[in-house]
Amino acid sequence: MSDPGLRDEVLELARELIRIDTSNPPGNETPAAELLAAYLARAGLECELIGPDPARLNLVARLQGGGDGPSLMLMAHTDVVPAPSDGWSVPPFEGHVRDGLLIGRGAADMKGELAARAVALAELARSGEELAGDVVLVAEADEERNTAGVGMSWLVRERPDLRCDYAINEGSGWLLELADGRRVVTVSVGEKVVGSLRIRVRGRGGHASVPSGNNAVGNAATAVQRLLGYQAPVLVPPTVERAFGALGATAGGAEEAVAWARDQHPHLAELIPAMVRLTVTPTGLEATEPANVIPPCADVICDCRALPGQGEEDVRAHVAEALGDDLDYELEFLEPLEGGTESPVDTPLYRACEEYVERRLPGAVLLPLIEPGFTDSHWVRGAHGTVAYGFAPVFSTDLDAYMDGIHAADECIQAADLAEMTEFNLFAARALSRAARPQSSRS
Ligand SMILES: [Zn+2]
Repeated sequence: MSDPGLRDEVLELARELIRIDTSNPPGNETPAAELLAAYLARAGLECELIGPDPARLNLVARLQGGGDGPSLMLMAHTDVVPAPSDGWSVPPFEGHVRDGLLIGRGAADMKGELAARAVALAELARSGEELAGDVVLVAEADEERNTAGVGMSWLVRERPDLRCDYAINEGSGWLLELADGRRVVTVSVGEKVVGSLRIRVRGRGGHASVPSGNNAVGNAATAVQRLLGYQAPVLVPPTVERAFGALGATAGGAEEAVAWARDQHPHLAELIPAMVRLTVTPTGLEATEPANVIPPCADVICDCRALPGQGEEDVRAHVAEALGDDLDYELEFLEPLEGGTESPVDTPLYRACEEYVERRLPGAVLLPLIEPGFTDSHWVRGAHGTVAYGFAPVFSTDLDAYMDGIHAADECIQAADLAEMTEFNLFAARALSRAARPQSSRS
């Protein structure tokens, strides 16, 4: 990175953010929003702190554009998952730096990225340069649990004026060196549909002193085995198919392309199979009778992830196919399916990502991914039609260490990558400023 001043600035801001414990639950994100507001005020930016819960406020800072260019939202959540002390080599909320490596809860997910987006906005404000469209930093609460309705789901509902044409959020930007020598950098363009369900499996209840073969607990165990043993057919979303094509993996069918990608990199081996099929994974088993009573039913609790465009019917069909027709069961969704939005890739923001990668890593290819998890990109895509990508370049941090630390001990990121992320956000804002607004956004 060209500017050592910005590098120190983003590292220091990330450390300060980590020192504010925003473990969710309970969150208590307001002090993090206040810290950011004080930081941005020094760059001349006014911030709004808003939300339905005073302890869990969101921050919004807008840098007004001077023309009719596309608007860009820089998104980052302020909450983190809790950090039980087991396994940490340093205290998780101190913002420890060891040989250029920042270690602490939120270093990777995502106070480091949050700091990079804030520093980029501050730098744009300080520079006095006029972009054609607005750049809006949104630092939102409650992403990790998304149960309190105080974060991005609240913002898109209560503050439609925050709508932007484009958004950059968490999720990807990882440099992968493939087995055949090529380099790819991932970008998240969509995410799977996420939900949970209960499969209530029945049997014949009664006194345990006279057991029958038709035991609900045994039947539930059979259901678990069958769910684990069943794989949905591969469905490659068009975006991913294009990416496979760009990488030269189109020789066979979808299964072959997936097998090829799997052989190319251990992270693709984990990501690609999840990206191309619906999964229903047993995560719990419940039956509630005393030990001497055979219960009439037992519940298998499952996590379910469907592809963009799929819905409850696809999940029901998957379960029916897996379980066969000799079990007596009923399926109930524990919460409505959520997520499953996807953004197109023929956009100026996507090209900005490509150009940035090409500039920094000549010859590397951008690989669009569907996230197996859920991010707040879903809300802005769903409510506002915003083109949202998960992209924050991780070019210097050892990827295994980076991945292993997310939601776990010794979460880390190289300071060089915080600087890289800052540069990318600046680059993307300037590149978009030269693009036309999308037709659908013009009034
Ligand atoms: Zn996150």
